[in-house]
Amino acid sequence: MPELPEVETIVQGLRHCILAKQIISVQVRHKKPLGNLHEQEFKNFFRREIVQNIERWGKYIHFSFTSGKSMIVHLRMTGKFVYRSNSGSPQPAAHIRIIFTFNDKSALYFQDMRLFATFSLYPPHHTIREKQNLGPDPFARQITAPWFIDVVKNRKIALKSALLDQHVISGLGNIYVCEILHKAGIDPRLTAYKITRGQAQKIINSMRKVLKLALKYNGTTIRDFNGVDNKSGRFQQLLRVYQRAGKLCKTCGQASIQKIKQAQRSTFFCPHCQS
Ligand SMILES: [Zn+2]
Repeated sequence: MPELPEVETIVQGLRHCILAKQIISVQVRHKKPLGNLHEQEFKNFFRREIVQNIERWGKYIHFSFTSGKSMIVHLRMTGKFVYRSNSGSPQPAAHIRIIFTFNDKSALYFQDMRLFATFSLYPPHHTIREKQNLGPDPFARQITAPWFIDVVKNRKIALKSALLDQHVISGLGNIYVCEILHKAGIDPRLTAYKITRGQAQKIINSMRKVLKLALKYNGTTIRDFNGVDNKSGRFQQLLRVYQRAGKLCKTCGQASIQKIKQAQRSTFFCPHCQS
């Protein structure tokens, strides 16, 4: 599932390709991403709309239009956008679910093999449900060690699970939480409320360093992540623990990376560096 660096890479790509363009037609090839919306209702929403901005909120993509309307997309497991600059360039292949065509004949294809992605539409000045209760972005100034300690003070769950909770901090997922805790040298099994101020500060610093580096490499391609331009991310070369179970730790060179299950998710960590 795309996390902050991958979604940010997609948002940058979308901005580059479709900003200020007018939608002239929408083709729906599969209704699942539309949820409860009727196909015609969905298509009508975009009539003559011009893309004003595209932003990332945690792992959500927020498209805003000049009329004040909004579309919120969550890509989940396999959702992706592919841009085609004109009708002469090759069409993306399988699992196309929605096609947006613009006034300059370019098109944005939404592909989703497993059909878990969600689209929601909002009229102008409407409260956006997805934004309510979403924790701050990892780079938000609001996130400080005392703030973090306060947020997790009643959480009797593993620290790793607290970091995955989008209500605590938004945008983190399994790959980056494993990498962040490794960089911070903290055991992922530590109970969240027992965290010290020093540990909270290490987590915050590591989180920003890991994410900045991942953004520089356009995210991580584990299965088939691609940006809007169909280029894959390269951060997987720099992963230190994620999917390295049984391999020697790149940080200490003394222990093997262990894999455990926490809340049905795999956690990778070094028992020597993170004790
Ligand atoms: Zn180690």
